[in-house]
Amino acid sequence: KAYGVNELRRMFLDFFESKGHLKMKSFSLVPHNDNSLLLINSGMAPLKPYFTGQEIPPRRRVTTCQKCIRTGDIENVGKTARHGTFFEMLGNFSFGDYFKTEAIHWSWEFLTEVVGLDPDRLYPSVYEDDDEAWKIWNEEIGIAPERIFRFGKEDNFWEHGSGPCGPCSEIYYDRGEKYGCGKPGCTVGCECDRYMEIWNNVFSQFDNDGHGNYSELKQKNIDTGMGLERLACIVQDVDSMFDIDTLKALRDQVCEIAGVSYGDNESTDVSLRVITDHVRSVTFMISDGIMPSNEGRGYVLRRLLRRACRHGRLLNIAPGFLTDLAATVIEGSKDGYPELEEKKDFIMNVIRKEEEQFEKTIDQGLVILNEMKEKMAEEGTKTLSGEDAFKLYDTYGFPIDLTKEILEEEGMDIDEEGFKAAMEVQRQTARKARKATNYMGADATVYESIDPSVTSKFVGYEHLEYESKIT
Ligand code: ATP
Ligand code: MG
Ligand code: MG
Ligand code: MG
Repeated sequence: KAYGVNELRRMFLDFFESKGHLKMKSFSLVPHNDNSLLLINSGMAPLKPYFTGQEIPPRRRVTTCQKCIRTGDIENVGKTARHGTFFEMLGNFSFGDYFKTEAIHWSWEFLTEVVGLDPDRLYPSVYEDDDEAWKIWNEEIGIAPERIFRFGKEDNFWEHGSGPCGPCSEIYYDRGEKYGCGKPGCTVGCECDRYMEIWNNVFSQFDNDGHGNYSELKQKNIDTGMGLERLACIVQDVDSMFDIDTLKALRDQVCEIAGVSYGDNESTDVSLRVITDHVRSVTFMISDGIMPSNEGRGYVLRRLLRRACRHGRLLNIAPGFLTDLAATVIEGSKDGYPELEEKKDFIMNVIRKEEEQFEKTIDQGLVILNEMKEKMAEEGTKTLSGEDAFKLYDTYGFPIDLTKEILEEEGMDIDEEGFKAAMEVQRQTARKARKATNYMGADATVYESIDPSVTSKFVGYEHLEYESKIT
């Protein structure tokens, strides 16, 4: 049955609740007491203190659907069927409670019995030395040996610097030949979208002391993550995550305001998907208290928002379109994330302001960039100078990645070192002048006028989020 996204989320959480897990609300995208991470990128990330034993979990079995941002995947977005910068990760976790056997059995039971996926299309992978997991798949679940893939450290050993780590077992789904790259040797583990990775089961059983020495953990943990959008893509039997019910509604709206249809032209489709994805990231980030700025998380937000604006221009969409799309994101996801509805006006106002600010300068910036390109052609160079890139950033609000992306479309690049140097000069000057370093004038004060409760630190909100995490 082609369950909807909101249905699948509930089915997963209910299933693991029936297996003794405590349902917890998604944590904020802003990490709490964790400087190693800019944004939450997996279900386990906000639960780290429970894995290391630093904090006592409310229960030893927990299940969540966690909002995640992975800007590392930005290049893939719109090009693969399975990557978004924003996605939801379903997870079940054991803090020193059950281990491999239960984790594998339950993942299989959920996929084949609850959701009803065809077992013949599912393929597990295990870490090359993990005979224990291999045996569970083979002897207990009954998967034929040739259908179980053994991969090396790169793919099937999960580790994040020092701390808890261990082998993992992933589950792939064969979507059929029509999604394959057709290259010889295309099989499970191929980067193309035929064998789609849906679920990662991590058996965190070792502790890495940071120097590559592994000792067995006293407490053996389970940490799993399954992309909700990918699951929906398979269950609904559609081409990509941009065709699942919730994202399609959003994508259709982008088509409508752009006056184009989906599936007519590949480069148009990429822009449609990029906008669809980025507006989700932007909406969720703002709802978690992140404000556009020139640093850290705020810069990630600004970069995504401006990138979406630029793709809007490529599609000749009239400025100011992101706010309407954000309303659709909120409508589609408020079921799982009521905070979206609560903060609706605020989210829309922040997006509107930031969009307006960028729109004011983007046209001028593009004209300047064209002049720069002409100058480059005359000089016979394909590299934009750091100073010019900085001028676009400083005066016209072009995030460096945006300038880079525009140039790359025409086989050109940027002197990035030169850009950093120009930036550093500006920093020093600003420091000397004891001025704030908000080059584009979009500091938090702009947003304080929208909502006086907003401060750049947002301590109050984070505190609330933390308090209300246990449901
Ligand atoms: P891939 O190899 O396809 O990039 P991954 O190995 O990087 O995926 P994991 O880090 O194992 O992914 O994350 C666990 C699960 O989260 C994946 O199996 C997938 O279902 C989902 N997931 C990961 N990255 C994304 C993304 N960018 N967009 C949507 N879902 C994702
Ligand atoms: Mg990846
Ligand atoms: Mg992978
Ligand atoms: Mg993986």
